Amino acid sequence: VPKILVADLGGTKVLAGIVSGDGKLQHRRKRESAGDGELKDILANLYAALDDVLAAAASSPAAVALASAGAIDLKKGVVTHSPNMMAVNGAPLRELLSQRYGIPAVMLNDASAAALAEHHLGAGRGSRDMIFLTVSTGIGGGIIVDNKLYQGADGTAGEFGHTIIDLNGPADTCGGYGCLEQYASGTAIARKAVNLLNSGVASSLADVLARQGRITAADVAAAALSGDPLAKEVFDAAMRALGTGIISIVNVFNPELIVIGGGVSQTGEQLFAPVRRAVAEHAYKLPASRVKIVPAALGDEAGAVGAALFAREELGL
Ligand code: BGC
Repeated sequence: VPKILVADLGGTKVLAGIVSGDGKLQHRRKRESAGDGELKDILANLYAALDDVLAAAASSPAAVALASAGAIDLKKGVVTHSPNMMAVNGAPLRELLSQRYGIPAVMLNDASAAALAEHHLGAGRGSRDMIFLTVSTGIGGGIIVDNKLYQGADGTAGEFGHTIIDLNGPADTCGGYGCLEQYASGTAIARKAVNLLNSGVASSLADVLARQGRITAADVAAAALSGDPLAKEVFDAAMRALGTGIISIVNVFNPELIVIGGGVSQTGEQLFAPVRRAVAEHAYKLPASRVKIVPAALGDEAGAVGAALFAREELGL
């Protein structure tokens, strides 16, 4: 089975490697990537990660596959809108990669790629109808219907982070208001904690902010677990929002399985318990009683591995 050169490009990092026939990611390279930076810097960083991988690999790959955050136009191979990486909007990423490496290129949404990988090789194995969610810098989703990835008419299906949970909520760059991502992503959790700290609310997180110069969702989750009231308020509200979003997913798709990955899902039961409770209490009873909501199995490699699976399907490799 030919090897595929892969990268998963998100708002805070790029992960690259080579995927072998057994779906393992080899020559793994991870670099920080500033999603709020300029296109040339994002590209230079992406190329540097891929070049590094190629330099380390003995054999040459048959294709290059990119999983990218953002709504993707599958026909053109461009990101049409990526809220956490605005500079890539409209750039012909697929063509650029194909030209640079002189091999065929494919591209798809990062969470759709992760859905494919979790379905084939991870927590979704054996399921037929599965929804994947990533709760990280942004919130993304991938849809498996009848064992196949569903990408919609253009390729943008599964944007669960941009489902609206409050019409009176803040505007999002996607054009919506009160999108789930504004309430429950890692970025939102950190931002809300910092806003409350800055407004003078006392919290153990003030020390963390002073020490690190920033606060992450993981810091908020840890402080919430140790009983810090500000952190608990912020984290619980985020999980209520996430639960609200997932209730709609259960009612719309009647999935067997919802697999949740991404950095914020590393908090484990702190995330899963309130989400399962929300679904049990507020979704339609039959789909709520069937659905299993479980952690992802492939960690941060799901998007990269899924990009290779997609390349094999698309290019018949
Ligand atoms: C983007 C999605 C992406 C998700 C996770 C969201 O902001 O709209 O396309 O899958 O972040 O990276």
